[in-house]
Amino acid sequence: MSKDPGTRLFERVAIIGMGLIGSSLARAIQQRDLAGAIVGCARSEATRAKSLELGLAESMHEDPAAAVAGADLVVVCAPPGAFEAIAGVMGPKLSPGAIVTDVGSVKQSVIRDIGPFLPEGVHFVPGHPIAGTEHSGPEAGFAELFEDRWCILTPPPGTDPAAVKKIADLWRACGSMIEVMDPAHHDKVLAIVSHLPHLIAYTIVGTAMGLEESERAEVVKFSAGGFRDFTRIAASDPIMWRDVFLNNKEAVLEMLQRFSEDITALQRAIRWGEGEVLESLFRRTREIRRGIVDAHQAGTFDAREPEKFVSAAQDPKKADPPEE
Ligand code: NAP
Repeated sequence: MSKDPGTRLFERVAIIGMGLIGSSLARAIQQRDLAGAIVGCARSEATRAKSLELGLAESMHEDPAAAVAGADLVVVCAPPGAFEAIAGVMGPKLSPGAIVTDVGSVKQSVIRDIGPFLPEGVHFVPGHPIAGTEHSGPEAGFAELFEDRWCILTPPPGTDPAAVKKIADLWRACGSMIEVMDPAHHDKVLAIVSHLPHLIAYTIVGTAMGLEESERAEVVKFSAGGFRDFTRIAASDPIMWRDVFLNNKEAVLEMLQRFSEDITALQRAIRWGEGEVLESLFRRTREIRRGIVDAHQAGTFDAREPEKFVSAAQDPKKADPPEE
């Protein structure tokens, strides 16, 4: 299906949370002329001022209720832990017929936290763009973030298909590919492809921090040995990741249990010198990497050098950015 429907999809889009994802979406909507107007909402004065300075929205509000007034699309782009409070405030002010969507990295908790506050006649289409970097804030965003990336939609049963199609059209217009999924399945899949890898990265970097001072210096010096890649993932936003783990407990704990069993098996193989066990696993895992490259899901972005952004499609051989 075409990525760009070539029409203005919404009159007034309210983006609640103008960080990496919210500001990237604002930029993508502006670049492709997908909405008549964008209004934003952020907690801090600093983010509101920066967003206006960057021209991301025509007005910025502290109060989500003020931001959503008159909007035909509301995109919640705050950390998952803030969703319930935001929904409680904005719910009564939503326009009849408006579509509410979000970009949260967990989906069952989002439906639990937002759904009950939406009035009759407002459509809810939860979403999750599988695209990101370890950077945060309105300056970190860029319009191309969603290009050639999957966006997973998890509409609850009974959602108006026309609303689902409009949200799918929005993400396609931003360059994404769409998959519709059951929210529980989403949370399980993401637990292994994103949440567990982040937990491992946070743990390894934490372990290194616990070493003696002299050893810590060596860790930094020789970090290119593999550690550096973990530090990039472990630099991801602390609030967002706290909320992800607290809101996807069950699936993460299940994957963590499997991981612990597998690492114990490797520990045993190393102890008993079972080289063939190690080699056989490493050969199989190498195939996984090749599969990812073939699926064009490898690509790089450094927010400090946005002009050097290389999309996955342009250079599939580049290393992955952290995404969830
Ligand atoms: P971010 O850069 O830290 O931005 C978060 C934004 O939300 C900030 O503008 C913040 O305002 C605002 N905010 C926080 N609490 C709020 C509240 N109670 N009311 C209104 N605004 C509030 O975070 P992000 O990386 O864009 O992540 C946002 C969402 O995208 C999360 O739900 C995350 O799960 C999802 N996501 C992230 C990635 C990723 O790689 N980062 C990828 C896919 C999806 P202040 O700046 O004023 O605090």
